Amino acid sequence: MTTVAAYAAPAAKAPLERTTVERRAVGENDVLIDIAFVGICHSDIHQVREGWGKAIFPMVPGHEIAGVVSRVGAGVTRFEVGDRVGVGCMVDSCRACENCRAGLEQYCAQGPVWTYNAVGKDGRPTDGGYSQKIVVDENYVVRIPQALSLDVAAPLLCAGITTYSPLRHWNAGPGKKVAVVGLGGLGHMAVKIAHALGAEVTVLSQTLSKKDDGLRMGADRYYATSAPATFEDLAGSFDLILNTVSAPLDFAAYFSLLRTDGAMVNLGLPEEAAQLELQSLFGGRRSMSSSGIGGIAETQEMLDFCADHAVAAEIELIGADGINEAYERVLASDVRYRFVIDVATM
Ligand code: NAP
Ligand code: ZN
Ligand code: ZN
Repeated sequence: MTTVAAYAAPAAKAPLERTTVERRAVGENDVLIDIAFVGICHSDIHQVREGWGKAIFPMVPGHEIAGVVSRVGAGVTRFEVGDRVGVGCMVDSCRACENCRAGLEQYCAQGPVWTYNAVGKDGRPTDGGYSQKIVVDENYVVRIPQALSLDVAAPLLCAGITTYSPLRHWNAGPGKKVAVVGLGGLGHMAVKIAHALGAEVTVLSQTLSKKDDGLRMGADRYYATSAPATFEDLAGSFDLILNTVSAPLDFAAYFSLLRTDGAMVNLGLPEEAAQLELQSLFGGRRSMSSSGIGGIAETQEMLDFCADHAVAAEIELIGADGINEAYERVLASDVRYRFVIDVATM
């Protein structure tokens, strides 16, 4: 066991404070990672606030982890000391179910072991990346290509894969019109990746305040959802709409923007239940779906794609003492476009 500095919420809704966590000894198939940077995902905030239901405290959040391998177990074959690596939302899964065998570990029939706010196979609560080091089985670790700096790569481990996976699954590419609702952490990655895939990209944001940024990131068009004319102008336009909003949405209004056979894919995980009028899906064989992060192999594919296409997160780098203020700014939609903690400040 190693004791390392970390930031934790001692109880639901409490501010995060400096503490320590115990990391298990490096096992046969484990790698020890010195964490350099960790992103702040809105999911961290939902869980610290117990917005998704009962959670485990003290909670060390953080599932956008980028760092360097500093020790490997005797049976590790894929990594060496010094390798630049990442860890996302999962640190284990059953490895035997249909989904695990298909590389869809995020949909493991037994539920994956989440990076934090979960119980590991050793029966101990898991602690996330707001900490100096983490020990993870090599099968749940991915390689960060040299072309990507670790600070702007960290958010790819959740925001990147969560948007890459549905964009690939629903065939975003040349000739496809994709809308991204919400230009936050997930949203800005969706814009960059959809553009790199060759799709025509439209941002649907609450206001036009981030329009210049959105166009610079690769959006072709940018609309304010607060303007009623937006929904008239764009009726029947899109093959795919990715919803990245962290609060409930008026889904019916967005369904009207889909073309025949278009799909709206929900990525946001609001704390309140959303209303869904099924009637608004009729006409045009529209579908409503959802997507959760991505599997381990697909996460590696996404990192390689981002390196090849010069895609990375736009970040605001903060010290560990700025976490609570950053949370408030994320809740106020005042994020440009991901807060990343410099773990050296811990
Ligand atoms: P974020 O950085 O806070 O971005 C959310 C964006 O949604 C905001 O920037 C804002 O964009 C828009 N928004 C916020 N409140 C709104 C409201 N009341 N009405 C309309 N628009 C609003 O959050 P994130 O880290 O990208 O995460 C977004 C959501 O996805 C969270 O619920 C998170 O838990 C979830 N998530 C899901 C997965 C998955 O696997 N499916 C993975 C990661 C995160 P504008 O200012 O541009 O309108
Ligand atoms: Zn996340
Ligand atoms: Zn499984």
